Amino acid sequence: MRRVLVAGGAGFIGSHLVDRLLARADIERIVVVDNLWTGLRSNLAHTSDYRLSIVQSDTETFQSDIMFDEIYNLASPASPPWYMKEPERTISANVLGTMRLLALLAKGGTFCFTSTSEVYGDPLITPQPESYRGSVDCTGPRSSYDESKRCTEALLFEKSRVQGTNVRVARLFNVYGPRTRPDDGRAVSNFITRALVGQPIVVYGDGRQSRSWGYIDDIVEGLARLFWLTPIDHRGPVNIGNDREISVLEIARYVASLIPGSTIIHVDPVPQDPTNRRPDLTVAHQLLKGWTCWVPYEEGVRRTLQWFRDQALNSAAHQLPQILQTSPNGVAEPIVSATATSMSLAGSHSR
Ligand code: UDP
Repeated sequence: MRRVLVAGGAGFIGSHLVDRLLARADIERIVVVDNLWTGLRSNLAHTSDYRLSIVQSDTETFQSDIMFDEIYNLASPASPPWYMKEPERTISANVLGTMRLLALLAKGGTFCFTSTSEVYGDPLITPQPESYRGSVDCTGPRSSYDESKRCTEALLFEKSRVQGTNVRVARLFNVYGPRTRPDDGRAVSNFITRALVGQPIVVYGDGRQSRSWGYIDDIVEGLARLFWLTPIDHRGPVNIGNDREISVLEIARYVASLIPGSTIIHVDPVPQDPTNRRPDLTVAHQLLKGWTCWVPYEEGVRRTLQWFRDQALNSAAHQLPQILQTSPNGVAEPIVSATATSMSLAGSHSR
């Protein structure tokens, strides 16, 4: 029987991964370590499985007598306003957090890490294969996230090379779906939560920048196959994402079309906002037979919208998402809308 640790297991993606792990009969214990920085206890409130325990702790300082057969490290903010606000903490969560967790890996165990398409920076080739080394500015506003993911990949693959540690690394591309925080700050949830409370959808720049939007269920299916379902003899990271590339403006317009009365405004572009992003899925398709992203964005956005509407029924007030504002010195700073705490998503139901 396996002992499993999920760092960041109360987060958006982490909690979905925990659901998948709980469906396994070969696991005797799952320990979730989460400092609830961006994670939420409510993300795991639906489960009362006796095998699951939740420890509120930073990953870097997590103490345990147990050595784990499988460790999943998803403990990191992933939304620009969050990591830009606390860059040092972001670097620490990824690099030092992974160092700490490696010390808790049982002999012969497997260490799994969610890296990011941000390792490609503002890519100069499209689509991006894993072999592309990226175009990242190590002094730019995204560097705490991009570079800490890159450094953690280096740490893991060097552990693998030098000590033979079993390592699996997924590079995730723009994941969205239910359990995103209303104040997360990323595009899909921002568009939905603002439109639901009658605020204009805010598009940074002209909205022609594009992303490959992956619905959570498809992404977690890819992670499950990469992390434990498939015997894999492959050294290196694997892109996990949707390879249908769609502009930000198209997503904004689609959300607006679903919520009557919605408007879209444009504000200054965010400094160093990548212009495009699309995974080359050749490696994923070779390794994870039959896996693909099945849910088109139209379906995924509708499901996400429905989830936010359901949440609003259960909650008196939500924080509005953070909007990035470019300061005079060209730095993108997160600001929270002044009306943030006073508005209720529930109020939007009649819209
Ligand atoms: N974006 C936007 N309005 C928002 C949030 C994001 O126009 O309220 C844009 C952002 O500039 C970027 C894209 O949507 O071009 C995706 O941003 P997100 O923060 O979701 O992910 P990332 O930038 O990390 O890919």
